[in-house]
Amino acid sequence: MINIAIDGPSASGKSTIAKLLCNELGYKHLDTGAMYRCVALKAKQSGIDYNDKAELEELLENIKIDFSSEGAVLLDGKDVSKEIRTDEISMLASDVSTKKEVREHLVELQQAIASNKGYVMDGRDIGTVVLPDAEVKIFMTADVDTRAKRRYLENKEKGLKSNLRELSQEIIERDYQDTHRKHSPLKKADDAIEIDTSNLTINQVVDKIMVIVSEVLPKE
Ligand code: C5P
Repeated sequence: MINIAIDGPSASGKSTIAKLLCNELGYKHLDTGAMYRCVALKAKQSGIDYNDKAELEELLENIKIDFSSEGAVLLDGKDVSKEIRTDEISMLASDVSTKKEVREHLVELQQAIASNKGYVMDGRDIGTVVLPDAEVKIFMTADVDTRAKRRYLENKEKGLKSNLRELSQEIIERDYQDTHRKHSPLKKADDAIEIDTSNLTINQVVDKIMVIVSEVLPKE
């Protein structure tokens, strides 16, 4: 078994593709963005000032993030899968993820999980920081309009109301913050393969990555 790292900007389709790859390969998916979202939700719920180092460190010492076998995200034992997907938490996750303490804490957890191999991990710093030795590294992109439309349709399907222009704005803001932060900014690893998914179907993206994976997997 190998590890597969998928990085890229917000709403570029990383999680959707990661889940499908896991089905094909019988691997496990780790959505690292969900972990940053959990930190953001906990900070909001507990009302802490995440700019205060001591308060942030206490929050990190006590936080428990798990994934159920069905893929639900559990924060301190409670299913928060829906709560962490709001626009407010998306932006807050981008804010807390600029903090060195948060990154160090979550990267350590992510590395421990992936040490058993057989993971498809998606995020912003997987190929560069979390799993620099991952056997396959993908950098997934798509233009802003495509990403906003995809997020809009996804929300509609979930019964959530959203506004296309606001979604574009939020994506642009998060991209800026994620690529310009001091600690582990979003960037393509030198050895990652870039896939622009703007004009590709989901299946075409999965097929492309499966070809790359099959070249790396040991032959039986
Ligand atoms: O991937 P998702 O959009 O759920 O991630 C939410 C936020 O968490 C991102 O905008 C980014 O700021 C942060 N993040 C990160 N590093 C990761 C995954 C997510 O900084 N590996």
